[in-house]
Amino acid sequence: MTRKLGRFPDGERGRLAAWFEHHPVGVNLSLEILEAVEDVSRLREQSAGTILQAAALTCSESKNRGPRALGRQVRDYLMSCVRQEGGMWGEKIDAASRSFQPFSPESLIVERSVVTSPMAVRVRTQFPKIPLEEIDDFRAWKVPGPMTEAKRILALVRHRGSFLKPFPKIRHAVNCGDYVFNPVSNCHLECTYCILQSYLKNNPVLTLAANIDDFLQAIEARVREEPERIFRIGTGELSDSLALDDLTSLSRELVPFFARLPNAFLELKTKSDRIGNLLELDSRGHTVVSWSLMPEVIAMREELKCASITERIDAAARIQAAGYPVGLHLDPMIHFDGWQEAYQGLMAQLSDKLDPRRIAWVSIGSLRFDRALKEVATQRFPKTKIFADDFIAAPDGKMRYFKKLRIEMYRQVWHGLRAWSDEFPHYLSMEPAWMWEEVTGAPAPEPLRLERTLTNRLGQLSNGQSRKM
Ligand code: SF4
Repeated sequence: MTRKLGRFPDGERGRLAAWFEHHPVGVNLSLEILEAVEDVSRLREQSAGTILQAAALTCSESKNRGPRALGRQVRDYLMSCVRQEGGMWGEKIDAASRSFQPFSPESLIVERSVVTSPMAVRVRTQFPKIPLEEIDDFRAWKVPGPMTEAKRILALVRHRGSFLKPFPKIRHAVNCGDYVFNPVSNCHLECTYCILQSYLKNNPVLTLAANIDDFLQAIEARVREEPERIFRIGTGELSDSLALDDLTSLSRELVPFFARLPNAFLELKTKSDRIGNLLELDSRGHTVVSWSLMPEVIAMREELKCASITERIDAAARIQAAGYPVGLHLDPMIHFDGWQEAYQGLMAQLSDKLDPRRIAWVSIGSLRFDRALKEVATQRFPKTKIFADDFIAAPDGKMRYFKKLRIEMYRQVWHGLRAWSDEFPHYLSMEPAWMWEEVTGAPAPEPLRLERTLTNRLGQLSNGQSRKM
């Protein structure tokens, strides 16, 4: 705290210290407030003391709820000012927006073999003025490079190699047996904790496969091999499933395709609100649209360029009304001062807006990362604080919150969901059996039983499902 105050001019330090003396909000919250005060002060070119006093005055209706409640309100208010007025977390974000930021590449690369494909033509016509380079083989471009710059280039390529694969199994965790295919690699949204920042470091250019038919043929061949089995197949491993959908209209090919496969379901996972194409399609209940969610106050700081939480939940309500099942992923849960009330608020938003009878499932998980991700994320987003908490190395090599804290966080959300409704299954994501037992008080399900629970739920939701508009 003293070190932080030292960053302010002499005349300001006393004013700020006096405010915190009268409002004992705790060390962590004080540091967060000072950080935000510094940002707003820089943006508005006003003194830090004036900024803090004005913010406290604006939030003074919570005066009677004690200093910590006031402190949290002041912090959230100041952070919303930063978000609205300018730069955030080291990345320059459109000042006018707290909403989804559409992708606008600065240059295009196209492999000659797909130049005339419908996907390449569709994308190119939307960006007639940006530089375009035609190349023979994109594999020669798969080299390490700065992530931020690479995400401004869009490569249209012929995907080679594996078209469908089982979702990588996590050792020591209860896995749930789904499949993935990756027509898009990398994502223009900027979540500070995004694993792709390290996972794709050797191949960071945003890449879109133009040979979509090859994916569809491979999927159809695989699901026909086992007609008795239900396949859950997602696209959210290497990108956000809908972030580019306005540009690619990929959902217009995928949703009707899955609608006619009797034993396969598609899951589209997103942090956007790009559902325009979906609303015009008949999924026959074979596409689940899933949103990853956390309380607004933390999403605002850590999920840049994404739709706000309110916008995501509104989009989920609209997609439910159009007949799609909705999945929810409360993952990663983030620990911060005031997390209990914030997650309670998120649950209230969900139960207020969504119909539990049309929810396919809810997963719950917490922040996890490896050393490589922390290094690149803290370089790209120097002001993120999520890696500054206390973590422990788990058997899978990832850093996670301490067991006691994870249990406390999961229990709150688990029981909150149960209190809301018992219509839909919910499960812990990437956690071992002992954690399930601690949280639920019951034995963890066998992986096959969890897989069956989820596929049965899809069967229930799609039974007799047709277009509702
Ligand atoms: S939306 Fe998903 S893929 Fe995109 S940056 Fe965020 S975590 Fe990464």
